[in-house]
Amino acid sequence: MEEIKEEGKSLNFVEEIIDNDLKSGKYTSILTRFPPEPNGYLHMGHASSICLNFGIAQKFGGKTNLRFDDTNPVTEDTEYVESIKEDIKWLGFTWANEFYASDYFDKLYEYAIQLIKQGDAYVDDLSSEEIAAQKGTPTEPGQHSPYRDRSTAENLDLFARMKAGEFNEGQKTLRAKIDMASSNMLLRDPLLYRIKFAHHHRTGDKWCIYPMYDFAHGQSDSIENITHSICTLEFIPHRALYDWCIEKLGIYPSHQYEFARLNVNYTVMSKRKLLQLVNERHVSGWDDPRMPTISGMRRRGYTPSAIREFCDRAGISKREKINDISLLEFCVREELNKISLRRMVVFDPIKVIITNLEEELIHLAIENNPEDEHSGTRQVPFTKEIYIEREDFMEHPPKKFFRLAPGQSVRLKGAFIITCNDIVKDIEGNVIEIHCNYIPESRSGNDTSGLKVQGTLHWVSVPFATPVEIREYERLFKVENPNSEEGDFKEYINPESLHIIPIAYAEPAFKEAKQENHFQFLRKGYFFMDKDSNNEHLVFNRTVSLKDSFTKKA
Ligand code: ATP
Ligand code: MG
Repeated sequence: MEEIKEEGKSLNFVEEIIDNDLKSGKYTSILTRFPPEPNGYLHMGHASSICLNFGIAQKFGGKTNLRFDDTNPVTEDTEYVESIKEDIKWLGFTWANEFYASDYFDKLYEYAIQLIKQGDAYVDDLSSEEIAAQKGTPTEPGQHSPYRDRSTAENLDLFARMKAGEFNEGQKTLRAKIDMASSNMLLRDPLLYRIKFAHHHRTGDKWCIYPMYDFAHGQSDSIENITHSICTLEFIPHRALYDWCIEKLGIYPSHQYEFARLNVNYTVMSKRKLLQLVNERHVSGWDDPRMPTISGMRRRGYTPSAIREFCDRAGISKREKINDISLLEFCVREELNKISLRRMVVFDPIKVIITNLEEELIHLAIENNPEDEHSGTRQVPFTKEIYIEREDFMEHPPKKFFRLAPGQSVRLKGAFIITCNDIVKDIEGNVIEIHCNYIPESRSGNDTSGLKVQGTLHWVSVPFATPVEIREYERLFKVENPNSEEGDFKEYINPESLHIIPIAYAEPAFKEAKQENHFQFLRKGYFFMDKDSNNEHLVFNRTVSLKDSFTKKA
């Protein structure tokens, strides 16, 4: 596992480049962009890219544009646009401008005409199969298309007719005229435009030719005067084409920099795979709390600052690696420990009768969060009948069982010490009721009993108990790297990733629970209210367990 970096961390390699560019006077201000394709919901990998791009702007007093890279009309949708905006805001970032690559379609069309006029682009009649067949291999040059030397006039005419919808899909393409022998396969006359009779979520039916990524991305960067265009490593070979287009068009010289994708074990991150999980109902939706999406993490109860902290600790590097999901859980736990309200919820109840309690009700005030002195207390009713967790009682306990057993004493959290003096069984011999005495002098915060007990149990008053539903999550995949296993990644889905407890018993303070509250259920974990909750029925997602499986390397 990656070492935990100390505070006052050094700059990552992209930040170092920018720092140098500012110091050398190459730039006086920095403009980055985050360029999602609106074809799915954002995931943890995008969070890393967002933290990097927006983080740079914050650190160096620059700005970040949000640009939807919407050049592929077939897979894109406004639902995704909205979710992406919501997720970025939730993560805590603000963009300077909201742009769409499709806003530049007219400009890009002009650029294409400029390349044709310069003799740098031509209309090709070859099919995509033929183009692929003539591309050559990394060690053998490709062949020139028979249409490569069309006249400028013919190219201009054909390209205009492509735009006018006179040809079928696949019948013609626009290609850059670069070098069919280049060792970089992407420079072997790459496609710039293809025909697609598809409705675009913003431009409607205005266009039937659409620019390829390589003829949209760099140009969009340039139109916006992006100084540092940061993308993931698989775009390294595209950089030469990025620079070629800028040089040939003579436009603002944005520069591309690459960093390694963020990978996390026990999950998949490509939108294509996440979409399959949604469409094939392996999860309830993009925001299923088991999904590595930002919306899934939000619904589960992860906090924006914990996710930012994780991205920071995972770091930015030039080499691919797989991060441990427990690092993220560690960050989540660390924050939730500071901010969550402590509550008691019994998942699997057994009844305890306090036989010597005379009062009908004792009001206890129990602190909301010992980590936060301003969090105050809540009222918790103590009554003759309470629930404790079934597993906290044993009739014949082994040594060192410090919970409840005949003749043994425990403290009830925030309340009193009780001692078990009798049990009631059903006809099959199962314990159904535990009878205890309480020690009135042992009240928490004012304990004059002088008694010492080892165990402290959570509990809930029976007449005041509120039934709630609990959803506990495990990892979505059974194996560390479902991407690299044989066969389909979906074969490795963990069939037990969701465990529902339809009725658990919660203390009455939940009646005032707010959607935004994070809770620690004592001895159970951190929980967050699910959006399926309503006034009659509260549902809680387990955000993360209490136990920390993350070990800091010495
Ligand atoms: P996916 O393969 O999941 O669909 P993508 O790269 O196609 O990802 P885009 O919407 O095109 O997704 O990406 C928007 C930005 O987020 C890009 O700059 C991309 O490089 C970055 N990004 C996507 N996935 C990751 C990741 N795992 N780690 C870091 N950055 C990522
Ligand atoms: Mg993409």
